[in-house]
Amino acid sequence: MKTQVAIIGAGPSGLLLGQLLAKQGIDNVIVERVSGEYVLGRIRAGVLEQGMVDLLREAGVSERMDREGEVHTGVELAFNDKRVRIALDELTGGDTVMVYGQTEVTRDLMDARKEAGLTTVYEASNVQLHDVKTDAPYVTFEKDGEQVRLECDYIAGCDGFHGVSRQTIPDEVKTEHERVYPFGWLGLLSDTKPCHEELIYCKTDRGFALASMRSPTRSRYYIQVPLTDKVEDWSDDAFWTELKRRLPADVAATMETGPSIEKSIAPLRSFVCEPMQYGNMFLVGDAAHIVPPTGAKGLNLAASDVATLYKIMTRVYKDGDKDCVMQYSEICLRRVWHGERFSWWMTNMMHDFGEVEVNGTDSQTFSRFMESELNFYTDNEQGRRVIAMQYVGLPYEDIK
Ligand SMILES: Cc1cc2nc3c(=O)[nH]c(=O)nc-3n(C[C@H](O)[C@H](O)[C@H](O)COP(=O)(O)OP(=O)(O)OC[C@H]3O[C@@H](n4cnc5c(N)ncnc54)[C@H](O)[C@@H]3O)c2cc1C
Repeated sequence: MKTQVAIIGAGPSGLLLGQLLAKQGIDNVIVERVSGEYVLGRIRAGVLEQGMVDLLREAGVSERMDREGEVHTGVELAFNDKRVRIALDELTGGDTVMVYGQTEVTRDLMDARKEAGLTTVYEASNVQLHDVKTDAPYVTFEKDGEQVRLECDYIAGCDGFHGVSRQTIPDEVKTEHERVYPFGWLGLLSDTKPCHEELIYCKTDRGFALASMRSPTRSRYYIQVPLTDKVEDWSDDAFWTELKRRLPADVAATMETGPSIEKSIAPLRSFVCEPMQYGNMFLVGDAAHIVPPTGAKGLNLAASDVATLYKIMTRVYKDGDKDCVMQYSEICLRRVWHGERFSWWMTNMMHDFGEVEVNGTDSQTFSRFMESELNFYTDNEQGRRVIAMQYVGLPYEDIK
């Protein structure tokens, strides 16, 4: 097999990149470890920044999102019996976010790919990347018991945190920065009316909670839990009872509850791999970086990496400017670190770290610092603007 860009992984990064490249006439093949149904079964992100919304429109896959997605002009922070609304549009000069599930984005991209007749190899095993430092890299994998070799000009490693692409960068070339948080998020998805029209991030003495949604009839809720908890420890009833204790009382009082359709625990991690490229192989999305979900940045950072690589590949194939690939890592990392910092900051401010020492500070002192931080940034318009401009997403950087 031969293509111009071999894409490893059919998550949102791989599928969106493939769609954008195909629109520019750049041939690509996606190689994915699991089945398409398995990919669609993962319940993950749901808040799309303006930049990602625009990119999905550019990719020609926005029809359903524009019809069914919900534009949100604000989010709320609840703490110490206060509720502070961050008016995203007013504070940023008109920017908003779109609530539309990652599953739906993925489904739209898969449908578009199928319709365009583009090749995706699902259930490929033993995927390996070769000669990525040369002008003739290739990928090998097994499919239905056969060994396949895919030759290409470039490889996009869109294979998530546990993928193979990052492992092809030698240890002496890469630096991995990591922080693992001492708690996780227990998430519950249910076909119930959302308890509020906007997301509410809640800091309480019992721990963090988030009231979120996927549609007017589907809710997504999260509560902070110890890392030692297992999903089986939490019945639906126990979840709803604990959630109500953490939400503002008036919201909890009228909240609709119902059976879960999905329940899972996600550990929280900040992670960045530098550089994000090695020769003609580029890391995209979760393959290069992970954020705790507190700032709703994971999927959105993946989209900005895709935007950068798409612009670079277009320049390479349209103008023959091969040197421009050298900009990829630097451009991506500037935005990635902003997203990492914002997610880390929101996580520190909104969670209960219990008795754990944080950043060399005892837990009680750290907690008082964070309380002050939260009050400082929410009590005045400039502070709320700082939150709003990061929540809607910083602008994408152009290539030189
Ligand atoms: C439980 C959970 C909850 C989350 N919640 C949020 C949220 O609320 N908000 C938010 O913004 N973000 C959230 N995220 C993050 C967001 O989902 C990710 O940032 C996003 O999925 C990144 O997309 P990706 O395509 O880069 O990686 P992925 O979605 O991980 O896709 C990678 C793909 O590569 C495939 N793959 C892996 N290894 C190989 C291999 N060896 N060969 C071939 N294919 C391979 C995988 O099967 C997968 O399909 C969450 C993540 C998790 C895990």
